[in-house]
Amino acid sequence: MKVWIRFVRGFVLKILYPVLMLAGAFLKSKKAQFQAYIVRLNNHLVMRDSVKPEKILLLLPHCIQNSKCDVRLTFDVYKCRRCGNCRIKDLIELAETHHVSISIATGGTIARKVVKEIRPDAIVAVACERDLSSGIVDTYPIPVLGILNERPFGPCIDTTVNLNKVEDAIKWFINRQEKLQ
Ligand code: SF4
Repeated sequence: MKVWIRFVRGFVLKILYPVLMLAGAFLKSKKAQFQAYIVRLNNHLVMRDSVKPEKILLLLPHCIQNSKCDVRLTFDVYKCRRCGNCRIKDLIELAETHHVSISIATGGTIARKVVKEIRPDAIVAVACERDLSSGIVDTYPIPVLGILNERPFGPCIDTTVNLNKVEDAIKWFINRQEKLQ
């Protein structure tokens, strides 16, 4: 990990982020844009780093599971019956293909617990602007590539994600492993 990247990420996440969130408290219509900006800036910095992650975690939000599905996935995503009614099936297959860990978090507390248990070297995280930016801040200095979810039915319900973007992020970390070996 490059020291200057760690330093700049620290500045962005621990100083710029709270300042922008304070500004967002006054400019409410801009808050999500500020959060998305932090995610983009973080991704840009992570992709300039020389990380060599051995253990990669794909971390997903609970709202990506079909709201009518009765399977409880929080502690074991592999309980999914892979019916294909939501993206969970495809995301599990992606994780299997690339041999990365996969987990679902119902909120920041569970996400922190998962990260503490799995102890990944790098994370590909999917969530909304708010959860993604705060999650990236919480898990610093772990390198995180954040991907914003898509919300065709509004926030927090039956969300989805662009699978290509998720796969590209996983592959980016994997290629770093291979390049630096
Ligand atoms: S793919 Fe899995 S999580 Fe999604 S609806 Fe089907 S069983 Fe439920």
